[in-house]
Amino acid sequence: MTVRTAQVPAYRTFAVEVARVRRLSPSFVRITFTGSDLDEFASAGLDQRIKVLFPLPARGLRDCPTGADWYAEWRALPEGHRNPMRTYTVRAARPLEREVDVDFVLHGATGPASTWAGRAAPGDEAVLVGPNARFAEPTGGVEWRPPADARQLLLAGDETAVPAVCAIAESLPAGTAARVVLEVPTDDDVLDVEVAPDVRLTWLPRRCGATVRPRGVLLTAAVCAAADELGGAAAAAGADDLDPDALLWDVPAGAAPGADCYAWLAGEAGVVAALRRHLLREAGFDRRSVAFMGYWRLGRADAG
Ligand SMILES: Cc1cc2nc3c(=O)[nH]c(=O)nc-3n(C[C@H](O)[C@H](O)[C@H](O)COP(=O)(O)OP(=O)(O)OC[C@H]3O[C@@H](n4cnc5c(N)ncnc54)[C@H](O)[C@@H]3O)c2cc1C
Repeated sequence: MTVRTAQVPAYRTFAVEVARVRRLSPSFVRITFTGSDLDEFASAGLDQRIKVLFPLPARGLRDCPTGADWYAEWRALPEGHRNPMRTYTVRAARPLEREVDVDFVLHGATGPASTWAGRAAPGDEAVLVGPNARFAEPTGGVEWRPPADARQLLLAGDETAVPAVCAIAESLPAGTAARVVLEVPTDDDVLDVEVAPDVRLTWLPRRCGATVRPRGVLLTAAVCAAADELGGAAAAAGADDLDPDALLWDVPAGAAPGADCYAWLAGEAGVVAALRRHLLREAGFDRRSVAFMGYWRLGRADAG
């Protein structure tokens, strides 16, 4: 039952523990969380984002605030008591079974999230900050909002965007013309995804046999090729009023008039910024037809 009061937050904390761990491939692990109140977790699917708070090695989750003011309390904690927080995508939510799946990229023991996910076992505790079913309005956190009249869709991302892109691609109905390109670390990271026949999904492994390509090279080439093909369907370029290099996140609110092509890009910030630049400057896309999201930044830990 939804409750219409100003006190009900759109997002709330959920104390969870690991129910199952499934290694999907060398670089992906699916962690299924369970929690007594996950029946109130309200994922909209698609690229629904959440926060995950991880235990500290010495203190676990004992200082982790879980009440309505959790964020202010979390920020006020001394550095060594503040649980690391990172952003992830809901790969699947089953509120009736009180379960949420998150697919973690294992990029080594270089950050708290990847380190935790690489060692996670049933019973391990964490805290999710996710959409609240008791909130009466849309909770937000979903950036996949193509205009209803978009005839051509382009979705592109690296391994961190795989959960979001797969969920979006799976949701596209038959007859949707979509090009989907995903760059992943190795050819063993190509996952099974069922998409409608007109959704053209291409996996781009950086390491294939003995050949290893630098990050972003394959994705850039594939997006440029797809965009040049689709560019004729985009609105006339028009000057971009924003400096693409200064931006890490831009999800247009309104559709570009006359554009029937829409692009959604996510992944390493430098790579997706370059992709966006190509779409706007070379391929004739209107800024309002390109959503781009820097999911992480090479060489920089997420500040939470
Ligand atoms: C909206 C959104 C949704 C996201 N969804 C997912 C998701 O579903 N699954 C997922 O795995 N990630 C996802 N991410 C990305 C994830 O939040 C970052 O990769 C995050 O930095 C991981 O935290 P960490 O503690 O492992 O590393 P950090 O402590 O943040 O960083 C430590 C070091 O690792 C590097 N690093 C971070 N991520 C990677 C990576 N993937 N590959 C190589 N080096 C890396 C950093 O540059 C830094 O040098 C999402 C991000 C956003 C904004």
